[in-house]
Amino acid sequence: MSEEVSTAFQAGLTHFGIAESAAAFLRYRDELLAWNSRFNLTAIKDPEEVLLKHFLDSLTLLQVYDQPGAIHVLDIGTGPGFPGLPLKIARPDWHVTLIEATGKKTTFLRHIVDTLQLTNVEVLNVRAEELAHKSPYRAQFDLVTARAVAALPTLLECSAPFCRPGGTIILPKKGELADEIKQGKRTAFRVGSHFQQDIEVTIPGLDDGRRLLVWEQQRLCPPQYPRSWAAMTKQPL
Ligand code: SAM
Repeated sequence: MSEEVSTAFQAGLTHFGIAESAAAFLRYRDELLAWNSRFNLTAIKDPEEVLLKHFLDSLTLLQVYDQPGAIHVLDIGTGPGFPGLPLKIARPDWHVTLIEATGKKTTFLRHIVDTLQLTNVEVLNVRAEELAHKSPYRAQFDLVTARAVAALPTLLECSAPFCRPGGTIILPKKGELADEIKQGKRTAFRVGSHFQQDIEVTIPGLDDGRRLLVWEQQRLCPPQYPRSWAAMTKQPL
């Protein structure tokens, strides 16, 4: 596939101080699209759109959270790696754990981690609500994120148990969110999180109301959470 990077994408990489990472992102994009026909990894098939709507969109988290060193990051329901893997490419010192319920997606994730020779990336084929009750993972992460996985109350109930007190949860969302945020705040109170910010993000050429909802984990999440996926989605806290 083409070696060219669009001006908009290159400007985005430059903005985040990672202009030299263009080759890694192109390789990731090419592998994603090559595997897509067999593994159904993404609905976005246009090569330029992958750069903007997957990679640049993932990198926007750096606008609200960008710390040096071995930050422990968890991406829940990462699919083919979003937003966790672009963040790892951008910030190689970070330790990134990717959890994904679908085996074929974790097969792709392991392939791309090998291909790009990324270190300190853990790929787990598990359900978040089960892993969250296991002590090596509970309350361990500095930053927890999940993009396009569920409604806010479910995402918060799933994310908060993984986040250490003082840590941050960033949930990228799109569109009209007033009711969801109201419900999310109720859930946050129960799981020890507190709403911090609703930040609009802009990506060149995209005007679809992308936002980052930022929460602080103020205390340990009570041990009964998360509940089963059915309970979280049908009876939100
Ligand atoms: N985060 C990626 C993105 O933004 O492109 C993928 C989004 S995709 C719509 C949702 C992903 O979450 C799917 O790959 C699905 O298998 C995964 N998923 C859903 N529920 C999950 C759970 N309880 N635990 C782990 N992964 C889950």
